[in-house]
Amino acid sequence: MGAHTPGLVCGHHHLYSALARGMPAPPSTPTNFGQILEQIWWRLDAALDLDMLRASARLGAMEALLCGTTAIIDHHESPNAIEGSLEVIADACAEVGVRVLCAYGVTDRHGPDGARRGLAENERFLRAGGRGMVGVHAAFTCSDETLEAAAALSTDAGVGVHIHVAEGPEDADAGARLEALAADDWLLVHCVGLDRPLPGTIAHNPRSNMNNGVGYAQPARRPNPIVLGTDGIGADMLEEFRLAYVAHRADDVEASPDTAWSWLANGHRFFPEAADDRVCWTYDHADSPWHAAFTPGMRALDVVRADGEVLVRDGRATLVDTDEVRAHAAEQAERLFARL
Ligand SMILES: [Zn+2]
Repeated sequence: MGAHTPGLVCGHHHLYSALARGMPAPPSTPTNFGQILEQIWWRLDAALDLDMLRASARLGAMEALLCGTTAIIDHHESPNAIEGSLEVIADACAEVGVRVLCAYGVTDRHGPDGARRGLAENERFLRAGGRGMVGVHAAFTCSDETLEAAAALSTDAGVGVHIHVAEGPEDADAGARLEALAADDWLLVHCVGLDRPLPGTIAHNPRSNMNNGVGYAQPARRPNPIVLGTDGIGADMLEEFRLAYVAHRADDVEASPDTAWSWLANGHRFFPEAADDRVCWTYDHADSPWHAAFTPGMRALDVVRADGEVLVRDGRATLVDTDEVRAHAAEQAERLFARL
């Protein structure tokens, strides 16, 4: 019998990107972070419709659950299918049994009307009782007016803002632009090049930062609470923990896995009830940071939600049919790739 842990939390995800694996290559190889956004992610998000989004979110939520992740903080953008998109994500997660905190990433990159519709989607979802935050893509794709409007909505709705901050050099002035707006309930994603302290929790995404070649965020050197996210590359949080530990170690050879383990546990600040979920692992010491840091390949065998609902039994999801979710995703991925 393996060890147990609480349900794990992914502190920053993009469920819309679950179908991206295997997508057609961009017209030319991106040479920096800005080009990666333009040639990959901003082509993908513009091609999404709500059917594709539903398939993507179901697949992403199911894959999260099979890794023992029972709660997801999601950041969403689908500029040609904005209205109702957060509901689609929330419903897909509920179907699988995973908790989600939704946000629509407001941006001016599709003009002021795009920003207005993004804000309206956040507002509509929150006013209808949805569990969420106000999403903003990033300061560098928003006017000051849009940033102020998002901050005002978040204050009004009593939730924080979920925003990418200084992920790459394009967003170097994020600290200056957000200084007067940010608050303790904000979720600041990446903060690789953040040049000053800002209030809020920082979501650290080591695999994504490496994959985009943007550098190391040095989260341990910041005063903020830190949570771990994947930035859309799955939601295997023990894997992200191992990577967070070794990235920390590459920066500071005296680093202990206890630090990255505490970042993992901080996810429960956003989902206190996930701390009462129970995940049973294939390995006897999955609950020990020093074991988990050096044991790749541990799998979640059983996941039982705090309310007693069994979500995974013997490594299989119980509320959805794994094969059907994958087949649906493959079908919608084919439609998506044909548009790219
Ligand atoms: Zn992100």
